[in-house]
Parts: sequence; structure tokens; C-alpha cells
Amino acid sequence: MKTIIEPFRIKSVEPLRRTTPEERERLLEQAGYNLFLLRARDILLDLLTDSGTSAMSTEQWAALMRGDESYAGSDSFYRLKETVQDLTGFRHIIPAHQGRAAERILFAITCHPGAIVPNNSHFDTTRANIEYRGAKAVDLPIAADTQSRLPFKGNLDIEALERLIESEGALNIPLIMITVTNNSGGGQPVSMANIAQVREIASRHGIPLYLDACRFAENAWFIKQRESEYKDWTPKQIAQKMFSLADGCTFSAKKDAFANIGGLLCTNDDRLAEQEKDLLTLTEGFPTYGGLAGRDLDAMAVGLEEVLQPDYLEYRIASTAYLGRHIADHGVPIVEPPGGHAIYIDAGRMLPHIPRHQFPGQSLAVELYRHASIRSVEIGSVMFGENARHELLRLAIPRRVYTQSHIDYLVEAILEVNERRDGLRGFEIVSEPKYLRHFKATFRPV
Ligand SMILES: *Cc1c(COP(=O)(O)O)cnc(C)c1O
Repeated sequence: MKTIIEPFRIKSVEPLRRTTPEERERLLEQAGYNLFLLRARDILLDLLTDSGTSAMSTEQWAALMRGDESYAGSDSFYRLKETVQDLTGFRHIIPAHQGRAAERILFAITCHPGAIVPNNSHFDTTRANIEYRGAKAVDLPIAADTQSRLPFKGNLDIEALERLIESEGALNIPLIMITVTNNSGGGQPVSMANIAQVREIASRHGIPLYLDACRFAENAWFIKQRESEYKDWTPKQIAQKMFSLADGCTFSAKKDAFANIGGLLCTNDDRLAEQEKDLLTLTEGFPTYGGLAGRDLDAMAVGLEEVLQPDYLEYRIASTAYLGRHIADHGVPIVEPPGGHAIYIDAGRMLPHIPRHQFPGQSLAVELYRHASIRSVEIGSVMFGENARHELLRLAIPRRVYTQSHIDYLVEAILEVNERRDGLRGFEIVSEPKYLRHFKATFRPV
């Protein structure tokens, strides 16, 4: 049998609510054409994010009941710690309520004004937390062309990293990060060889290397598929090797840990860990719960085991690729090849008549909602301003949530919008906040 099926069946369902095109037009106006400001009940397929939107398994729900709600030293914490140490090998495992809480603590301690933090591509909260410290977040991705089908398009540009260290000085670089998979760069994987090269450079200059490890399991699966040395390794062995090359990581459990909330900050540096735990206690909570309930720690621990099951990863990556191939082979330009957790439509290329400053990605996001009640998110000039490399629309796929017919509906809707793309118009910003403007900005059609 060639068909790759969802390796689970559905035990609990949540109804979806239809809306009419007229209702959606009114809702769009009320939301200032910012899909973050819509109510989730007014959306049919919600592809805004794969973060915290996973369906939990029966084992995870059972683990919630096992959760031990002691303030200090709960069994839940020790179960999580054991799982994470087995996976990553890091000495210090610090829970936090989300990935960005871990980032804020890490950068508050390591970054001074003027410092520079390179990454293959910074995620928006990572960049914002670095800039908030007065430091500079530098993206060093390889190949900028969205159409080239490289196997490891998420890689960090090694030569650019060497040049940056040369020109800025290692002392001004408190750490180097690699984001796996490269979310802002199209959900593209990073090869083990690339991580090892960055490790070598980091060691040579005495700079710590951190993984932004949100999608470590999806990255491990791509390595298994595409880096021949690892084809006989289990996803878990590959993940262990990835972590062994780093000095620490930040992690959002809302992605590959199938948890609805949670994050981690891990390090091998004893002194740093003490400072981090002090700051954690100040703003998040005691180091054995970090702003989470014990039950959340247990759900994370179980999720981290489940996500490495080969049947799951095979289905996950195949399902995303199915969506990507079906729209791309009918003429919709996507970031090639399809990534792990999302498909990114190259809205700049699809809508060449809309200039960057009129936000082609936003225009496409609005149109997909108007046409088919699908929510997606712009990843371009709205999100990154001047730093945007491309004008993309991300369709993020929640884990274990939507079925094949949902994906087919999505394909149909995108192809219909593509048919009449020449009629789409641009937007201008009416109001915007100082940081992370995409969450709250409002727009009007040009
Ligand atoms: C989601 C994400 C984060 C932030 O995690 P939150 O749990 O949303 O705070 C950081 N980096 C990457 C690559 C992400 O995808």
C-alpha cells in the first residue's frame, strides 16, 4: 500500500461553524483586516499557527490527570526533566510558560546593548526579545531564491557567519542560534552537517551555540530522509545528535511537544543556569514549574516521546508536502520544496501588481478568508518591516487536527483565488504598535 494514512483515529470532535461571505466581509472590516483580530469561532480552517493548536493524545490526557500540582519539586517536573535530559543531554532543564519566556530570560542575561546574535533566521519573538535588549538580531540564511529545491534550505550561511565574527569580534557575539526547522525561512530543515559546521566555528571562537528547537522532530525526520548517513537512524537518535552539538536550547512546547502551552530553556552552563533560575523565579515561577501547572509539564513529557514516532513523522511531512505539491503543480508559487509544518505561498511572486509597501501577503490572507473562511498569516513586510526578505503567506498546519478532506478543501480554495489573482488589491496600515506590529496593526484597502 502506498497511501500514507493518519496514524490515529478521532475520539473527540469539535464542530466547525460556517459563515456567509457577507458575514465575513463585515467581520473583516471590524477586525481592521487583521486576521489576528478575528474570533476563532468565525473561522472554518484555522491555519494561523501550528503553535498550541495540536490535538493531544489519549496518553497526554491521561498524563494531565497524573499531574502533580506541588509548588516545589513536583513529580511532574522530574518526569519532564528525565525525558528532556534523555533527549537533549543538557544539564539544566528550566521550564517556562512559552518559548518566548525562555528567550526573554536567555537574552536578558546574555545580551548587552550593541551585542549581536546571528541565527539562520530569527523567529519574530526571538528578534523582538533581542532588540528589546538593545542588541542586534542578524539573519544569515543561505540561498535567497524561494524557488530553488535544495534539500536543506534552512541552513545557516557558514561563510557569512565567519565574516560576521571577523568584522564584529567574537566578544560582541554572546551566542549563535540555529532555528530548526527554519520557521521564518519557510519551515525548511537544517542539515546535521550544517549544525556540525556551526558548532566547529562556535567552538573555535569560544561562542556558545543554541538551538531554537521548536520543531526538532520534524527537522530530524528531514535529516533521516535527505542526509544519507542518517537513513538508518531513528528520529530520536538523530534528535539526540542534533542536541549534542549545542550548548543549550530554547524551545516552545506548543509545536513539536503537542502541548497546548509550555516552553523550555536548557543549558550546560552552571553559572548561567543559576542566573536564569533567579530571573525565572522573579517573573515566571519557581524553577520546578516555571509558570506552568504540573499537568502541563506531564503533557509535554508525553508529547516529546510521541512526536518522535516514525509513523507520525512520516504522515506529518507527507501531509504538508501533499498540500504544497497540489497547489504548486497548478501554478501557485510556494517556497520550494514544501517545509515541515507549513506551506508558504510566495505572495510577492503570485501578486506582482501589488508593491511590497502595499503588503501582497496581507492581501492574499484577507482574500483567502473572504473566499473560504481560511485563516493564514502574512510573513513579510507587515511582520518584519524593512527586514523582510520575501512577501510570504504562511499556511501552518496544526498537528493531528485536520483530515485529508480539509486539506483538499484548502487546495480547492487556493486554486480558486489564484484564478482571479489579478483582481486582488493592496493594503495600507491605519495604526500599528511599536513592537510585533503584525499582532495588532489595522489596515484599509488601497
Ligand atoms: C513559536 C516559536 C517561538 C516562540 O515560542 P512561543 O511558545 O510561541 O512563545 C520561537 N521560535 C520559533 C522558531 C517558533 O516557531
